[in-house]
Amino acid sequence: MNLVCMLVLTLMKLHQSPVVASPLRIQPSQLPIGLSEADQKFAEEYLQHFYGYQPKSDRQKRAADYNEDSDWTTGLCDKVKEMQRFFGLPPDGELNKETLAVMKKPRCGLSDVESYGSTFRWTKRTVSYRIARINLPFPATRIHKVIKGALNLWSSVSLIKFHKRKRREADIVIAFVSSEHGDRAPFDGKGGILAHAYLPGSGIGGDVHFDTAEEWNLNFTGISLLVVAAHEFGHALGLSHSSDPGSIMFPAYNFAPNFELQLSFDDVKNIQRLYGDQYWKLQQLILQEGFPRKISDLGFPNRIKSVDAALHFRNNRYTVFFTGHECWRYNEQQGVMEGSSMLIEQQWPGIPFPVDAAIFYEGFVNFFQGNKQYKYDFVQNRVVSVGSANDLLDCKMEKSNDDKL
Ligand SMILES: [Zn+2]
Ligand SMILES: [Zn+2]
Repeated sequence: MNLVCMLVLTLMKLHQSPVVASPLRIQPSQLPIGLSEADQKFAEEYLQHFYGYQPKSDRQKRAADYNEDSDWTTGLCDKVKEMQRFFGLPPDGELNKETLAVMKKPRCGLSDVESYGSTFRWTKRTVSYRIARINLPFPATRIHKVIKGALNLWSSVSLIKFHKRKRREADIVIAFVSSEHGDRAPFDGKGGILAHAYLPGSGIGGDVHFDTAEEWNLNFTGISLLVVAAHEFGHALGLSHSSDPGSIMFPAYNFAPNFELQLSFDDVKNIQRLYGDQYWKLQQLILQEGFPRKISDLGFPNRIKSVDAALHFRNNRYTVFFTGHECWRYNEQQGVMEGSSMLIEQQWPGIPFPVDAAIFYEGFVNFFQGNKQYKYDFVQNRVVSVGSANDLLDCKMEKSNDDKL
């Protein structure tokens, strides 16, 4: 996944540039007084990295020197405006003192203009994580505590759960690294980019890297590891940057000392869109109007955040929902949940829970959990056979055909 750009930012520590006296428009040939070449280069690289600005070749730049309104200048100016809008600055396209100051804030390494929608998400409910035990800035137990706190922030408002692994490969690998560290997205030393993360996926997908060159803090002073971790885990779950300064997904480090870390309304809404307690209604594969709705509208108590599986009994017009170790009966005719939950082990003896899926097939109910399926006779109320989860799939048939050849 190539979602993290490859540019290194040459950062501000090298150049304590003089303050710009008045707003200035970038001109490639005539650097305004007060705007150092380093600042201009810095701004261009910032816009390349975070706003998808694509500079033209040097030759084109030289041609542009003779024309103030060239595409090159306009392109850069548009990107400055885009960045200013994102950060709530007046969008005048001028590289003024305020704009540069915002650009120079410590921040996350991911782009501000890529929106991922619902494209990237974990399809499982429990995501594993592991902390690489090298270059840790604090004792491992303290780091674990911070990481757990940051993950809890997301799991407390959604259906996603996290499971820590010590040695085995995990979905989210958390590492403290510096400069070039093997993913062609090098860190830039102290300041600038603090960390970056990869969107959900296999391999490097979901991984989170922190720059060891930063002065990390375990409390809420300086650069707080908890805050940056909470932000990066947002990406590792599939969230993009938010232009709301109150959002944990705001790209710049924006926190005063001793603030209270919490998710914004939008953060909660966005994570629930990916892993939330909502349901959608499709009729002949067409999404019906007025959805998604909260599953509590169906009559589930608030403690139920997700449904594992559902079975619709067409003739009797009811649906059985499975949630964890419980099952529920929903009366389609009256549109109400009938009474409270029942235990799966009593209603469907022999079925493992939580179930992954359930379907009617050739007069039986087939329950799936992990790589197994349980064929259940709901007249006799018992499991009649246990097989491999892919028994019903074509891949099994292909294999048997191959065997015949
Ligand atoms: Zn970010
Ligand atoms: Zn990295």
